[in-house]
Amino acid sequence: MAGYGLLRAMRRTGTTTPVTIITRDDGAAYLRSDLAPGLAGRRDARDLRLATAAQMAYRLEAEILTQQLVLGIDPELKRLRLNGSEIAYDRLVLATGGEPRRPVWLKGSATDQLLTISSLAEYSYFNTMIAGRQRVGVLGGTLAGCELAGNLRAAGLQVTLFEPASQLLQGLLPTLCAQFAERALVAGGVRILCEEGLQRVDQGVDALELLTLAGARCLCDVVVAALGSTPRTELARAAGLEIAHGIRVDERLASSDSAIFAIGECAEFEGRTIDLPEDIDQAAKVLASVLGGQPGRMAWRPTLRRARLAGCPVLICEPPNVAGEWHERATRLGLTAQFHDRAGDLRGFALMGSTSGDSERLLRRMAH
Ligand SMILES: Cc1cc2nc3c(=O)[nH]c(=O)nc-3n(C[C@H](O)[C@H](O)[C@H](O)COP(=O)(O)OP(=O)(O)OC[C@H]3O[C@@H](n4cnc5c(N)ncnc54)[C@H](O)[C@@H]3O)c2cc1C
Repeated sequence: MAGYGLLRAMRRTGTTTPVTIITRDDGAAYLRSDLAPGLAGRRDARDLRLATAAQMAYRLEAEILTQQLVLGIDPELKRLRLNGSEIAYDRLVLATGGEPRRPVWLKGSATDQLLTISSLAEYSYFNTMIAGRQRVGVLGGTLAGCELAGNLRAAGLQVTLFEPASQLLQGLLPTLCAQFAERALVAGGVRILCEEGLQRVDQGVDALELLTLAGARCLCDVVVAALGSTPRTELARAAGLEIAHGIRVDERLASSDSAIFAIGECAEFEGRTIDLPEDIDQAAKVLASVLGGQPGRMAWRPTLRRARLAGCPVLICEPPNVAGEWHERATRLGLTAQFHDRAGDLRGFALMGSTSGDSERLLRRMAH
């Protein structure tokens, strides 16, 4: 998303600077946000592809090297090391994304069979694994986990969601919002086990045998982990770039090496990773401008995350990491939660149910 977003933004500025994109996957363009709804509609992975690498290369006049893993960066010589070859660069942009978190604490003989669905390739693999089967376990009541569970249920599967915390969406939304999400999912047919993390996954005769922390047993055909992701920084770290949680960049998206930039989920600006589509879009425009020798400056703006939990629309403008309090209020059709900081300023909000008309008004209030 970030790599192609940058390339599009560069070409829109009219620059003909030669660009090479190197990716370890097949280079197909797709939207991450299409994956969860795609599961509900049982769509084939090929239908979610917006363009192949060859089409992208033609449209955006770039060289795209697919199935090529970058193994190392030599910042002194400005060279990239691939398997069996090297590529020289004048300027390098890292857009390596994030790595799905794995439950390293999990024990049992089948922990290596846990799936994640964070790319088109993984989506396709999940479809293969679930073909002709019914029972899915989702590990993690994150927003992505809740959305995934609702969509898998909509596809007619039997879904159990395991969350070790006492509520869903822990750390993201307050209690009433979490309960609202839980009710929507339960009404949609998802079985939810809060305060029920998994402790073991073992291979049974013809299913995976799950053991929860409370000692309950459950059989599943497939288990998917939805525990969020962490920025992929190993290349940058080995090259000696400054890393905090992600690759540290300044407002021009430059890393601690002036010839290397970072964008997307691998990049961290002012303590936050650039992982939401609208933020990635803004960063792409800024970096296209900077690479073209023009001024450009990244600045955080309030951004909306949209999700659908078993048919229930959810809009979240996540507050920054500041002290403050949530205030929740039931509305005729749903629930509104507003986060105010200590000075009483609105810094974030969540709208659950059909309250989306309020989002523009709340965003305007936050801008002032
Ligand atoms: C908190 C959160 C909320 C989100 N909410 C939404 C949402 O509301 N809507 C939505 O659409 N999305 C959402 N997302 C997903 C978001 O869109 C992703 O963060 C985004 O897709 C990341 O794009 P990216 O280009 O940075 O990484 P990716 O799309 O993962 O691309 C990384 C690329 O780098 C390649 N790569 C990595 N390492 C190497 C290597 N060594 N050599 C060669 N290639 C390599 C990979 O093959 C891949 O092609 C959310 C994510 C987070 C974390």
